[in-house]
Amino acid sequence: MTDKPKTMRLQRRAMLVTLASGACWPLHAQTAAALPARVVASFSILADMARELAPAGTEVLSLVRPDADAHVFEPRPADGKRLAQAELVLVNGLGFEGWIDRLVKVSGFKGRLVVASQGVVVRGAPHAQHGHGHRHGQGAVDPHAWQDLAHARLYIANLSAAFAQRWPAQQAEIDARRLDYLARVDTLERRVRQQLDAIPRQQRRVITSHDAFGYFGAAYGIDFLAPQGWATHSEPSAAAVAKLIRQIRQQGVKALFVENISDPRLLQRIAQEGGAKIGGTLYSDALSAAGGPAATYLKMIEHNARTLSQALTG
Ligand code: ZN
Repeated sequence: MTDKPKTMRLQRRAMLVTLASGACWPLHAQTAAALPARVVASFSILADMARELAPAGTEVLSLVRPDADAHVFEPRPADGKRLAQAELVLVNGLGFEGWIDRLVKVSGFKGRLVVASQGVVVRGAPHAQHGHGHRHGQGAVDPHAWQDLAHARLYIANLSAAFAQRWPAQQAEIDARRLDYLARVDTLERRVRQQLDAIPRQQRRVITSHDAFGYFGAAYGIDFLAPQGWATHSEPSAAAVAKLIRQIRQQGVKALFVENISDPRLLQRIAQEGGAKIGGTLYSDALSAAGGPAATYLKMIEHNARTLSQALTG
C-alpha cells in the first residue's frame, strides 16, 4: 500500500523523461527528482502546520479553503483528484471531517491517512449547556482540539513523525523545523497566557456562534457559551437562543464574538436582545485568507487572544 505513492512518483518521473526526450532537450535526473511531494490537508489550519513542518519543496494543499466551514464541506470531483495524487493525507480526526472516509474511498487514495489529533485528551463530557450531551447530528467528542496550544505540540509531533517516516532522508530537516516551530509555540503561549490572565474574573464569560472554543476556554480560563453545538449544520433551537439571552442579562456576559466561518446575523440579534456588544471576530475552524489577520495558525491564536483581551479588559 505504501508503495503506491512511490510508484506514482516514478511514473511521473518517467513521464517527464519521456516528454523531455521527445522535445529534444537535456533533462537531468536531478530536475525530475525535485518534483514536489504532495500533501493534502483537510482544512487550512492543518495545511499551515504542514507547511511549517514538511521538508522544503513539499506542496501542501488544503481541501477546505480559508474562511470556509469544514463541518459542512461538500467535496467536489477535483478534491478526489487531489487526494488521488497525494502522498500523505492529513486530517484532524475526532469526527471533524465527517466527509473524509467517503472522499478517500471514491478517490482511490491508498496511502497513509495521518490523524493529527492522535493522543489528545478529548473534551467529551457534555458541556453543561447541552443537557444530555449527544445532540442530534453531533459527534460524541469535541473535535476543536487545535484551539489549545498544548495540543498543537501533539499535532506537531504527529505530523513530524509522519513526514519523517515518509521521507526518512530528510529527518534532520524535519527535526529542525519541528524544534523551530515548537519554540515559536512556547513563546506565543507565554504571551497569550499573560494577556488572558489580565482579564478580570467576572468578565470571563462570552458567547460565540458554535461551540468551537471549549479547549481554548479550558486552557486559558474563559467560559464560552454558544447557541450551536460542536457542529454547525443544525439551526440552534429557539429555546437555546432564549437561554443565551437570559444568560447575557443574568450572568453578565461581557461580549459576543462572531466567527469567520459563520453567518454573524444570529449573534448580532442575540447581542442586541441581550443588551451586549459584539467584541470582534474570532477564527475558529479556518484561517483567514493570506494577508488577513489570521493567515497562519500562530497568528490565529494570537489574534483570538488579543481580540478577547481587548473586548474583556476594557
Ligand atoms: Zn467547528
